[in-house]
Amino acid sequence: MADSKVDIKGLDPEELIQFLAGMGKEKFRAGQILSWIYARGVTSFEDMTDLSKDFRGELARRAFISDWTPEKVETGSDGTCKYLFRLDDGQTVETVRIPMEEGRTTLCISSQVGCAMGCAFCLTGHFGLMRNLYPAEIINQVCAASKEGPVNNIVFMGMGEPLHNLENVIIALRILYAPHGFDFSPRKVTLSTSGLVPEMLELGRRIPVNLAVSLNATTDAVRNELMPVNRRYPLKELMAACRDFPLKPRQRITFEYALIRGVNDSPEDARRLVSLLHGIPAKVNLIPFNEHEGSAFQGPTEETVRMFQTALLNRGLVAIRRSSKGRDISAACGQLKAKMLEREERVNSEQ
Ligand code: SAH
Ligand code: SF4
Repeated sequence: MADSKVDIKGLDPEELIQFLAGMGKEKFRAGQILSWIYARGVTSFEDMTDLSKDFRGELARRAFISDWTPEKVETGSDGTCKYLFRLDDGQTVETVRIPMEEGRTTLCISSQVGCAMGCAFCLTGHFGLMRNLYPAEIINQVCAASKEGPVNNIVFMGMGEPLHNLENVIIALRILYAPHGFDFSPRKVTLSTSGLVPEMLELGRRIPVNLAVSLNATTDAVRNELMPVNRRYPLKELMAACRDFPLKPRQRITFEYALIRGVNDSPEDARRLVSLLHGIPAKVNLIPFNEHEGSAFQGPTEETVRMFQTALLNRGLVAIRRSSKGRDISAACGQLKAKMLEREERVNSEQ
């Protein structure tokens, strides 16, 4: 029965080696299996033709390979694609595939069902946390999207606060980086956090990954209101942790800044942002706030976004304006709401 079997997709390379050692198998077998599953997309041990028939049979008795098909796929006018996946316990998560320049693809993945951080402007946060995703559930988002074509970059910017699910996210990163498997370079993977300081530092000690910090405000007063996590880890502590975060040469921390009209988009904010980031290898991602139903916040004017960006550029900060891809299918930043969607569907099916 599947229940008593091990899901191979939930094991990081070291755990897979241990699992195979328990069957008396050599270390290099792990590489073969990783290659079949992640490089070639095989979902059955039977297809792993460079393993002996006995070995394949033994694997099938002890383990299984979970595999996902989206329950729903929506494609936006700009080619952005939103997948809805239903989990074993009926919960749902969303993953967004975003076409970038030169035919490259970025995949925005979720780390939790919902989110506990309660940011005032974020739809995911509005519904609270249902549960953490298991490593296999994080990885299966990448596997499912990869069936549609290669994924070049991965961002943990979907549903959830990845550092609130640190252990499972670290296992997932190890699987993404595994040679023979997906073999992602850590430079192609970005983890975005609302600013859980101790977990941020632990992450930096344990595994390489690009760090993105959702800053969204330049004073504690405003950030306390927008992001309750700031009451625990105020700006001074957060910026100190950013300064301590280990970076490779030429690597920078990305600071995400959702511009909200009249809240954090003044010229003073731009000036304060520059001083906050002083001395940190940084780049700023400006995201015009994506309006959603039930939120009183508004997006900035076009004029404000340009002035804000220019103010940063003039003071020597790298500031990119992030285009809000996937808006027409509610796949843009902060618009993921799989849980609500599920509720709507239930209501509809009861009618
Ligand atoms: N929980 C993590 C990662 C997911 S949120 C984090 O907060 O960093 C990804 C980004 O979307 C964050 O930078 C967040 O500030 C931003 N965001 C949330 N709601 C938004 C909205 N309505 N419009 C624009 N950006 C939003
Ligand atoms: Fe959670 Fe990030 Fe949304 Fe805040 S912005 S509620 S941390 S998903």
